[in-house]
Amino acid sequence: GFRINDHMGICRSVEEMLARYRTIEAERASLPYDIDGVVYKVDRLDLQERLGFRSRSPRWATAHKFPAEKATTVLRAIEIQVGRTGALTPVARLEPVTVGGVVVTNATLHNEDYIRGVGNDGQPIREGRDIRVGDTVLVQRAGDVIPQILDIVPEKRPSDAQPYVFPDRCPACGSHAVREEGEAVRRCTGGLVCPAQAVERIRHFVSRNAFDIEGLGEKQIEFFFNHEDASLRIRTPADIFTLKARQDGSLTKLENVEGFGAVSVRKLYAAIDERRQVALSRFLFALGVRHIGETNAKRLARHYLSFEALRAGASEAVMPEGKGDPGNAAWQELVGINGIGSVVAEALVEFFAETHNNEAVDALLAEVTPLDEEPVGDVSSPVAGKTVVFTGGLERMSRDEAKAMAERLGAKVAGSVSKKTDLVVAGPGAGSKLKQATELGIEVIDEDAWFERVGQ
Ligand SMILES: [Zn+2]
Repeated sequence: GFRINDHMGICRSVEEMLARYRTIEAERASLPYDIDGVVYKVDRLDLQERLGFRSRSPRWATAHKFPAEKATTVLRAIEIQVGRTGALTPVARLEPVTVGGVVVTNATLHNEDYIRGVGNDGQPIREGRDIRVGDTVLVQRAGDVIPQILDIVPEKRPSDAQPYVFPDRCPACGSHAVREEGEAVRRCTGGLVCPAQAVERIRHFVSRNAFDIEGLGEKQIEFFFNHEDASLRIRTPADIFTLKARQDGSLTKLENVEGFGAVSVRKLYAAIDERRQVALSRFLFALGVRHIGETNAKRLARHYLSFEALRAGASEAVMPEGKGDPGNAAWQELVGINGIGSVVAEALVEFFAETHNNEAVDALLAEVTPLDEEPVGDVSSPVAGKTVVFTGGLERMSRDEAKAMAERLGAKVAGSVSKKTDLVVAGPGAGSKLKQATELGIEVIDEDAWFERVGQ
């Protein structure tokens, strides 16, 4: 009773298999879906079992791909699309051309390096040729839904063609678009205000581990997002909390909208009001800062204890410029938190560097109070409340274990030595931090003394 593909059939020889391949290839353009080849399979299940698998593929099946279809046409424009995660993707707008029976007007350009003629590994592709608007390009359709641009025809490049400059601002919202080290993709940092990301962000904001507001599913969010009446519009997280007040003064009542009765509206307002106070870690997670998932949100909340301390820390932090630059003290404090590396720290710093985001956060803070975190850790321990720096080699524990242990004991772990440092634990090979500690007259102990001190 299963529906099977009409083109499936049994072949009894290699010749029959190739004949079937050619028949399907000839019909390919008229199929209502895209294919890139055929698959030959051994038909008997017992033989399949005996043949078994290689590491990633079965020995009893093999793909026979059609040659990719190619054509040349002119690149009219490069447009940037912003995805739901904020990724900026360049799309080629082409002079319409028929490739393998299908008219192609758009093709992917992957990312900014691809346009420049640089591959994912940093090596030149297309012998380093870049792609410019006005170029005659070679387009390939290989069964994929999105055709791609393979190369350009250098002889046909117009003399006034200019190298493409990839935007460093999001075309949807104007926020800075940044590229993280080691990543090919440039992303919009305007998370909370970017319309291209907004619906997805609001869904995240109300999700179970964030604000956990019941009655706001995907359908409702899209309804509120696109509503033409301002009293029913939700574009930012703060709008959720002003909905009731805006509705009170409006003639367009939510309870009269199909799908919302008086009861469900009352329930929705109650669910929203219940979240006017929320744990700091949830508040932070809900903001949807890149790389700040639940765990990192908890780590940050436990370290900074209040939202304002966290925002001040992130706003003051100055990222290092190149190797050897340690960044400033606020940066060191941030990356000194157990489990917070420079990638996470950078995402946080960039988020709070964006005026748009701060405005959205302030609007939210006018409606919602993130609760201060209680200090955790053993307050009776001899290092509670102390700022500790570990430097040099450690033998009885890894650096991460040391950080975790110190935090468990109520100490703050910092990445660099400053006047605020109380204790430096120095192992073999300790260098500049040890020297600074000595100069500042800060107590320095070795690893064994640390264990003695904390009584473990
Ligand atoms: Zn944007």
